[in-house]
Amino acid sequence: MEKLLQAIETKHEKMVQFLEKMVNIDSGIDSPEGVAKVARIIGDKLAEMDFAVEYLDYPGACTHLLAKKQGTGNKEVMIIGHMDTLFPIGTVAKRPFTIKDGKAYGPGVLDMKGGITIALFALEALYESGWNDKNVTVLFAGDEEPAHPKTNAPELFEQHAKGKDAVFNMETASAGQAVLVGRKGNIHPELIVKGIAAHAGADLDKGASAIVELAHKIIAVNKLTDKDRGLTFNCGVITGGTVANAVADSASVVIDMRYLTAADGAEGLESLRKIAAESVIPGTSCEVSNLRERFTPMEVTEGNLKLYEIVRQQGEKLGLAVEKKVGGGASDAGWTVRAGAPSLCAMGARGSFNHSDREFIELDSLVERTKLLALSIDAV
Ligand SMILES: [Zn+2]
Repeated sequence: MEKLLQAIETKHEKMVQFLEKMVNIDSGIDSPEGVAKVARIIGDKLAEMDFAVEYLDYPGACTHLLAKKQGTGNKEVMIIGHMDTLFPIGTVAKRPFTIKDGKAYGPGVLDMKGGITIALFALEALYESGWNDKNVTVLFAGDEEPAHPKTNAPELFEQHAKGKDAVFNMETASAGQAVLVGRKGNIHPELIVKGIAAHAGADLDKGASAIVELAHKIIAVNKLTDKDRGLTFNCGVITGGTVANAVADSASVVIDMRYLTAADGAEGLESLRKIAAESVIPGTSCEVSNLRERFTPMEVTEGNLKLYEIVRQQGEKLGLAVEKKVGGGASDAGWTVRAGAPSLCAMGARGSFNHSDREFIELDSLVERTKLLALSIDAV
């Protein structure tokens, strides 16, 4: 073990260089070419370790990377993540990878190119030490930030996670040492209300206001939030009407719904359907649309907790107190848990301010978390 840990320490500079190379490529949803470039950099590194690397191209959308390597034993480990960021083309030119006071900055440095770097160097260190007793699958998506709108990434995660003994999602770690054993699912349902248009002066009584009906519905939706259960509803975007002097015949709201279990999600949608079906303003009607599950919940399973226990013990060897948490955000670990695979999320670099221009990682967390992941992969 000591040798492996020392070998990882010597990799610090190379890790920083590798991370810099990836961060300095714009790879948002508007840049499939950038995502493909990042995929090549990762794929080349995995090919050096004798992985069979596949690039799954979705023209006009993005590229996913799938890589596999057979080990000598029967255990199956999977490492997942995403190569895209939510920053548009031009962000790298404005604020490229920089280092200041032990922190690295740049688009996607924390979410989650730091995590990808950790995964690759943990594997490299393991293989260089002669370790090869597990089958390893790596699946990195190219369109996680917008929740995979044009690809079948969720099915891929689920399909490849089946039968795995452990799945590690290299998502952003928190500022501390916590890893996530659960995360919420997320849907953005839309309530679309239809009313009856009428002149606001001459024919007010002949109209049925979609906007007033929507106002009632928004209050009702807001009351559905049950924080104790982790079931939340946020009416985030409303539209409606065209001019002030007409009764509005249409209005809609887009809702962010989050839930900890599939059962809670189903119940939440049922409540929304009920609200849609009951009109306060006669003459209005409502339909619920956009029920695509953006992320399925990463339910807290026995398997996740056992895997956490393994990681916690490895952390202890390194002098790190690794805690477990359930996160309010969503991630692709939901799909791998749904496939029945014990999974942990937030195995990536430590840092803060995801999705903002203040995003950074603590540079010393690269080596630290690489050690934690390498020991954990070995211990599974
Ligand atoms: Zn992420």
